[in-house]
Amino acid sequence: SDTTPSGEPAEIDPDKLDPDALKVIHRLHAHGHEAYLVGGCVRDLMLGRTPKDFDIATSAHPGEVRAIFRNCRLIGRRFRLAHIYFKGGKIIEVSTFRANPTELDASNGAEAAADTGAENGEEGSEAEESQDLLITHDNVFGTAEQDARRRDFTMNGLFYDVAEGRVIDYVRGRRDIDERYIRTIGDPEIRMREDPVRILRAVRFASKLGLDIESRTYAAMEGAVEDLPRCAPARLLEETFRLIRGGVAAPSLRLLAALDALKILLPPVAAYFKENGRRGRETFYAYVEALDRRVSSGEPLDDAILLAALLVPIAQAGPVVESQDPAVRPSVAQGIEDLLAEFVQTARLPRRIAERCRLLLIAQRTLSGERRRRTGAFRRHPLFNDALVVFEISVEATGQHREALEAWKRGEVPSLKPEGGTSEGGE
Ligand code: ATP
Ligand code: MG
Repeated sequence: SDTTPSGEPAEIDPDKLDPDALKVIHRLHAHGHEAYLVGGCVRDLMLGRTPKDFDIATSAHPGEVRAIFRNCRLIGRRFRLAHIYFKGGKIIEVSTFRANPTELDASNGAEAAADTGAENGEEGSEAEESQDLLITHDNVFGTAEQDARRRDFTMNGLFYDVAEGRVIDYVRGRRDIDERYIRTIGDPEIRMREDPVRILRAVRFASKLGLDIESRTYAAMEGAVEDLPRCAPARLLEETFRLIRGGVAAPSLRLLAALDALKILLPPVAAYFKENGRRGRETFYAYVEALDRRVSSGEPLDDAILLAALLVPIAQAGPVVESQDPAVRPSVAQGIEDLLAEFVQTARLPRRIAERCRLLLIAQRTLSGERRRRTGAFRRHPLFNDALVVFEISVEATGQHREALEAWKRGEVPSLKPEGGTSEGGE
């Protein structure tokens, strides 16, 4: 229905644009800067989805953005971004056009970095800044086109020019969105190896948006799996949680299993699969699917609950670390503790989340009636309601302990007759 000023059909419905993001863009324009909507929001709008948030890319440098907006804070050490705050806690993220640092490395980093600064009219601290950039190797300002090219996938590299009502496509993202393909920008081998976290991102977008991964991109993902351990554990953990929070944990984990990446990302899950074969896999995915349904219903669940729901079947299967001494049979509680300690150590799971997760897992045994406790105190425990959410997910996944769940929900204490042992795969 709508047309752009140049007469082409509009690809994006202007009514779907965020008014605050538009304000920010108009303001940047008024100060003589280039500014576009970019990334996930352009992709989602072109796919007919509602964007989660609206990000802006601009030629203005972070300090210039801060000078223009009062409700603005600069964040990030590696690359500084501007956050602009609006009512209701809404944040619009504004990032300065940047170039891919490795591309600049290839053509003599020092000069390229200095040139980029000069091109953008950078003055004063130019020399200092480019030196700094060389050390961090990650904050090289660039042009709009360079900024598009440094992004991960073609569908994420589109700009939307709100003044012209037109999508700017430096990376053939439009074609891939139309054909529903996830494809890296540039050589997939290089792009996956330079940041293997992109494996997880491709998996998330494929699962969440129902897109196919283009075959060379997929092959590059397979090849880069072995480089995953070189990524910062915190980034891997964050992207892993994003899969789960997105309500697409089951398809994502299946894809990651096919890529043989679970042994690196979630070693206890990989070990559980190995020990428990097909039955184990079925049990695990029943839990993950129940969790996904719960997340998709829109209920916000914190990371400790998400992780606990995922780990219930593994915690129930018994201690991960077998004792050398056959006479020593570690307790389930010890097994849970070891399991989470491993996550803290290898994945850098924050201790606060690990501890909450541990308590949620331990509580499952009381909820199912396997372990008798002073239930009055148990009910009043601050984690009782969260533990009950995890228990509900278990009941949903296995069909067991339904009566106990109903009793707890009625505010009663279930009769603590064990329902014929633990659950799947018991002792
Ligand atoms: P979502 O809607 O799930 O937030 P998104 O595309 O907005 O998806 P973000 O993680 O918010 O994803 O990142 C914003 C944009 O930054 C991406 O669209 C992409 O252009 C770029 N980007 C993010 N991570 C990377 C990365 N590892 N490598 C290259 N570009 C990236
Ligand atoms: Mg985003």
